[in-house]
Amino acid sequence: MILVTGGAGYIGSHTNKELHKRGYQTVVYDNLVYGHKESVKWGTLEIGDLSDKERLESVFKNYPIEAVIHFAAYAYVGESVTEPAKYYNNNVCNTINLLDIMRKYNVNYIIFSSTCATYGIPEKMPITEDMPQNPVNPYGATKKMVERILEDYYKAYGLHYCCLRYFNAAGADPDGEIGESHTPETHLIPLILDAASGKRESISIFGTDYPTEDGTCIRDYIHVTDLAEAHIRALEYLKQGGESTCFNLGNGNGDSVQHVIEVVKQVTGKEFIVKEEKRRAGDPPMLIGSAEKAEKILGWKPQYKEIGTIVEHAWKWHEKKMY
Ligand code: UDP
Repeated sequence: MILVTGGAGYIGSHTNKELHKRGYQTVVYDNLVYGHKESVKWGTLEIGDLSDKERLESVFKNYPIEAVIHFAAYAYVGESVTEPAKYYNNNVCNTINLLDIMRKYNVNYIIFSSTCATYGIPEKMPITEDMPQNPVNPYGATKKMVERILEDYYKAYGLHYCCLRYFNAAGADPDGEIGESHTPETHLIPLILDAASGKRESISIFGTDYPTEDGTCIRDYIHVTDLAEAHIRALEYLKQGGESTCFNLGNGNGDSVQHVIEVVKQVTGKEFIVKEEKRRAGDPPMLIGSAEKAEKILGWKPQYKEIGTIVEHAWKWHEKKMY
């Protein structure tokens, strides 16, 4: 049985679904602060916080856990700057709680939800795993710290890990059963979809003077179901004796904010107001990941590479979403 912490969240719930499609049993541990119980349509949901050691330990007592996929974390970059304590406590300290309970129960495999935010503002594109990690905000710093902790726990205690550094997770389950739903929403694609559906008055472009072709930021949008698939491959790789390591997960190509807005207009057939605003603090002009390592070692290849397909799936979910 696989323990999925944060399995009621966006990427966690999609991974939980994929695990079940492959015949795995899961238990989801989530405090439901940002996650949605409606997204846990597979396996068992145990509501709890990672800071609650007793509650967490009871899950290890009650279920035959063989591995952990660890998503549970706070992930608002802006909030991490104004409330760093919240981020260091939850993302780092509470992860240590989890790792120590894993040690106690002899659970020796963990897949960790990391991020391209650990690279900060890289000098070269595409980003490869060996490039320096200099996060520019506390959120990225927490993820980098946990990567380091995992490295040390592996060396000292033999706890095997894969860190998966996501680029911009996007899209929704192609079957339309689950999707992205954040409160508050800060991510580009769902915000544009809100503008397309009339839930918001307009979409703002944060910065049109970047050194890119159309002046807007470029990001590597990767379909959430492709991310989910990578977690399962990483888990199976570790169980087959693969070496503990980190992988970038991205499409290897970039789309500008302006282009994503155009694609949303095409896919939805809707018109909406687009405002040009100042740059948002801390946004690198361009982030594109090389996922060659994941392709070579895990045999992982994104299935939904087209931004049009990613937006289509997100729109299908967005139109019917209830929460
Ligand atoms: N962005 C934007 N308007 C918005 C939200 C985001 O122009 O209302 C831009 C943001 O500056 C970045 C890109 O869209 O360049 C993706 O932002 P998001 O917050 O989705 O992900 P991030 O890359 O920050 O993790």
